[in-house]
Amino acid sequence: MAAITETPEAFAQKLADIGLRNTPQREVVYGVLMKKQDHPTADEVYVRVKQEMPTISLATVYNCLEALVQCKLVRVVNFERGPTRYCPNLNPHAHFHDEATGATYDIDLPDGVLNQVNAVLPKGYDAKSIEIIFRGSAANKR
Ligand SMILES: [Zn+2]
Repeated sequence: MAAITETPEAFAQKLADIGLRNTPQREVVYGVLMKKQDHPTADEVYVRVKQEMPTISLATVYNCLEALVQCKLVRVVNFERGPTRYCPNLNPHAHFHDEATGATYDIDLPDGVLNQVNAVLPKGYDAKSIEIIFRGSAANKR
């Protein structure tokens, strides 16, 4: 289940928490990320946002993405090669990267996975987030 900031008020509050104002641009960029959660790159976000807000610049889209990442409404996903991708699913989850198509999928992790991880960390440490990427392609077996 995706943790979603449903209301404009909650969205504005998240930005306010780090001292930023809500702007129409930030709202549209976030809306685009929520609408199609396929881990787009900044360039892909730009193309989608332009359909709703034709005058927006790529630089503004980058600024909006940066603000959304800073206030933790969106997280970045980095694969070794290739540009940064953006993910609005805030639940602890892993990613599966289809090496054949480049598609990226959210993979739910078991409840309490961070607690399990904390149990095996060096004493005194607490994991706050998790980053796991599975890679593969469609299995051609039948
Ligand atoms: Zn994701």
